[in-house]
Amino acid sequence: MCIFCSIAKKEIPSHTIYEDDQVLAFLDINPTAVGHTLVIPKEHCDSFLDCPPALRDHVFEVAQQLAKKLETALHCDGIHLLSNMHEAAGQSVHHFHVHLIPRYKDDQEIV
Ligand code: 5GP
Ligand code: ZN
Repeated sequence: MCIFCSIAKKEIPSHTIYEDDQVLAFLDINPTAVGHTLVIPKEHCDSFLDCPPALRDHVFEVAQQLAKKLETALHCDGIHLLSNMHEAAGQSVHHFHVHLIPRYKDDQEIV
């Protein structure tokens, strides 16, 4: 079972930030900052590495729009956009996802 597939199918609840037919964005259950958001394709891909190009591009298009909204809504000074690939790089959920993590001047390093 893939937890993010279950979230995409609404079998497991999440705090949805954005949704369309291909992409879902929701708050991280264990945030490293207020507004820590995950953007996923609804279709399962193990990681960025095997996500089909059109879907990959759409995930990043949504991530770009949400990054702008986070800046406006939270008045953060910066945002991390990152995607871990494989366990050695810290990937714990093996369904492609992009993290958006708000950052503030002089806040603590959290990634
Ligand atoms: P990774 O370590 O794979 O880059 O990131 C996985 C992220 O998914 C982690 O930040 C973790 O807190 C988050 N996560 C894991 N399980 C759930 C869940 O059931 N719901 C939500 N909203 N986030 C989750
Ligand atoms: Zn999945």
